[in-house]
Amino acid sequence: MITVKNLHKQFGDTEVLKGIDCEIHPSEVVCVIGPSGSGKSTFLRCLNMLEPVTKGEVIVDGHHLSAPETDINTVRTEVGMVFQQFNLFPHKRVIENLMLAPRVVRRVPEKDAKERCLNLLEKVGLYDKANEYPQQLSGGQQQRVAIARALAMEPKMMLFDEPTSALDPELVGEVLEVMKQLANEGMTMFVVTHEMGFAREVADRVLFMDEGVIVEEGRPNQLFSNPQSDRTAEFLNKIL
Ligand code: ADP
Ligand code: MG
Repeated sequence: MITVKNLHKQFGDTEVLKGIDCEIHPSEVVCVIGPSGSGKSTFLRCLNMLEPVTKGEVIVDGHHLSAPETDINTVRTEVGMVFQQFNLFPHKRVIENLMLAPRVVRRVPEKDAKERCLNLLEKVGLYDKANEYPQQLSGGQQQRVAIARALAMEPKMMLFDEPTSALDPELVGEVLEVMKQLANEGMTMFVVTHEMGFAREVADRVLFMDEGVIVEEGRPNQLFSNPQSDRTAEFLNKIL
């Protein structure tokens, strides 16, 4: 689904990604962990063309992202994204937030879009909030709306950048539950997270990033219980 070869990313003179190689297979759930500033968000943003790549190759579902003929918008409709900040449109009702992209980008007829978006709200447990405005919802509910909104474009894969980091602790679980359900349905997922319980339980593979490289990767049990690198062990010691 995603192939990354020797990915480098520089901001001015600062090299933030220093040669990343990675493959993500269909239906795989890959969690990315690592210290703040290690390049996790930058890596994720390169997968969705939010950041141009300095060097190397990123291929998403057959689209070579740096090839001139690649249409950014086509790629973006295939890749759903959820950020730490929910970024909902505050002046639109929940259902309107979901329907906007399918209506405008995909030109889905209103009735079909509405039906599909209501189904998605039901899936994330928020059917009864369809006509509310984002501010009327809790953070956890807003993030579930953001996930449903991303799903409304019927993406082939989903990228999450610390989706629960801005939430009060008691609201984290409901968002992780929705993500877990999505994983169980076979969605391909790339998740930057500090939720080690989620990574351990749901990830097929965990990548540990530090200073712009993938230091180590493995099955969650292996990486958490028996890290091969001192840097991984040191990071896990700090957070677990
Ligand atoms: P993480 O998500 O792991 O915390 P980031 O990818 O956000 O790390 O950032 C990695 C490094 O890149 C940091 O040193 C950050 O300051 C730098 N960086 C990120 N985005 C930009 C940008 N737009 N311009 C300059 N430097 C940036
Ligand atoms: Mg980040």
